[in-house]
Amino acid sequence: MCFICDRIEQIKNGANPYFVRELETGYVVLGDNQHFRGYTLFLYKHHEGKTELFHLEPDERAKFLEEMTLVAQAVSRAFGAEKMNYELLGMGDAHLHWHLFPRRSGDIESCGNNGRGPVWWYPMEKMYADDNRPAPEELENMKQRLRDELDKLI
Ligand SMILES: [Zn+2]
Repeated sequence: MCFICDRIEQIKNGANPYFVRELETGYVVLGDNQHFRGYTLFLYKHHEGKTELFHLEPDERAKFLEEMTLVAQAVSRAFGAEKMNYELLGMGDAHLHWHLFPRRSGDIESCGNNGRGPVWWYPMEKMYADDNRPAPEELENMKQRLRDELDKLI
């Protein structure tokens, strides 16, 4: 079972605590770990046979990219990014999903180059450490802030 399809099933069952909002082409969720405060994912609704942007019909792709862009704008506003970072990778799960990182000066400070560089310079064991998981009340606050900004844009 694809990990992302599994998370989407949880959303449909009302059992995904990270779920923020459903859009036309995907689901907005906060990341489980929040070293990059406001880290958000945008999960494409479909999987089978659609694991590359170039697999999507042009209208669908344009809509997916437009919605991702608006999600990034909402994340930037909600969490005060100096710069947004965008990643669509898929070597873990090929299911199309955007990683949207609000970046701030010094957020990878311990990693050389004066804390300026890509998110993947930050050690994975720290990125996914349990002490980066927001407490339930904090998670609710973050989701509401992001919903409020999405409501202004979409
Ligand atoms: Zn999937």
